[in-house]
Amino acid sequence: SVVTRFAPSPTGFLHLGGARTALFNLLFARHHGGKFLLRIEDTDRARSTQPAIDAILSGLKWLGLDWDGDAVFQFERAARHAEVAEAMLASGNAYRCYLTPEELAQMRTEAEAAKKPLRIRSPWRDKVPNDPGAPHVIRLKAPLDGAVTIHDRVQGEVTVQNAELDDLVLLRSDGTPTYMLAVVVDDHDMGVTHVIRGDDHLNNAFRQLPIYRAMGWPEPVYAHIPLIHGADGAKLSKRHGAVGIEAYRDELGILPEALDNYLLRLGWGHGDAEIISREQAIEWFDLGAVGKSASRFDLKKLEHLNGHYIREADDARLAGLVAARLGRSDDAATLNLLTRAMPALKPRAANLNELTDGTAFLFATRPLVIDDAARGLLEGEAPALLSQLHSALDAVHNWDTEALEDAVRRVAETAGVKLGQVAQPLRAALTGRKTSPGIFDVLALLGRDESLARIADQMR
Ligand code: GLU
Repeated sequence: SVVTRFAPSPTGFLHLGGARTALFNLLFARHHGGKFLLRIEDTDRARSTQPAIDAILSGLKWLGLDWDGDAVFQFERAARHAEVAEAMLASGNAYRCYLTPEELAQMRTEAEAAKKPLRIRSPWRDKVPNDPGAPHVIRLKAPLDGAVTIHDRVQGEVTVQNAELDDLVLLRSDGTPTYMLAVVVDDHDMGVTHVIRGDDHLNNAFRQLPIYRAMGWPEPVYAHIPLIHGADGAKLSKRHGAVGIEAYRDELGILPEALDNYLLRLGWGHGDAEIISREQAIEWFDLGAVGKSASRFDLKKLEHLNGHYIREADDARLAGLVAARLGRSDDAATLNLLTRAMPALKPRAANLNELTDGTAFLFATRPLVIDDAARGLLEGEAPALLSQLHSALDAVHNWDTEALEDAVRRVAETAGVKLGQVAQPLRAALTGRKTSPGIFDVLALLGRDESLARIADQMR
């Protein structure tokens, strides 16, 4: 049965590209009723950090990318990696290489002078050392001729001549495993059947397959997915804006289901379906529909999807998210008010910042700050209209949207003006802004006393 894995190196935040790789691995595994595993590749002790591990774990959880079983930490498996290197020595598929740093530097200089890449086939391939205990690394005894062909599920058939590869290091002189060895041993031991990862790792696959072959292990199916690019076509990086997913959550106010849906559509498609639930994605996902070329990240499209998911989202959940942004999470009255306000607010927001900003009128204190755009709406006829509104609204018994609408319409009729001409100054008086949710919703949410007081402030 199918086993996939996501294998991030904890050297920074969970990136958009990594999140998409994890998503594809999860969907492929779930589609086939298999397992989706997580391995933290923390062998680079200098660059791996605990905050990065925490950010990856919490990012995956936030996106609902739940892995099966416990996460595997690669560094803990170093002894097993060394054991495999020893086994390869014993079977003649690896050798101890005693090249000194000076000799390696010399080889590098020569390769540079000849404008050739450095491909190390060490003289120690077939030589017996005088002192086996002298400092050495263990290298793969890679095939010298023939070729390695990968039938990649996304890239198609790709072949590299063995002559173009080198005898890569498996175990460093301090006995620690290299990335190349650790990945293969872990994938094998974890029973990984499908390696789905960024196409920046395609070259590594040609260096990893010989290790499988040397060990006589079943080879995984590879699928190298194209990287995500920015709008300018260059590989996505900091200068395109946020790349870590926590920035999409915290700073840009994106909902996890919106980011999931967006990342899914970035480089994979099912007809012209845009809104795709997790259940549908699991049903439809296949590697054959992953595009071969890099996809471009587009924040506008992400926000478009986000607006959709905000409109779909449960009001109490949105109220909680907004309350957190306002620093009022612990206030039950605020949560209550926000929940009641959500139906009026959420149709207008593309992200949680806009949603939060839209709630400002609920918490504003008198005298209201009137912004520049709204100030003009309170001049001329406005104070007179507002005072008519005040008396009409003061007479309303049941402070609900229907009764409020009736009262406001009657004021417009009596004054012989269109509803908008009354609604605009009313909006400005109640919210201090030119735009807001529907004016009857605003009145209902503010309640009688606060509404009448804000109107009275602008009557003069
Ligand atoms: N640890 C590698 C990375 O973060 C991924 C290795 C793999 O997927 O094989 O890029």
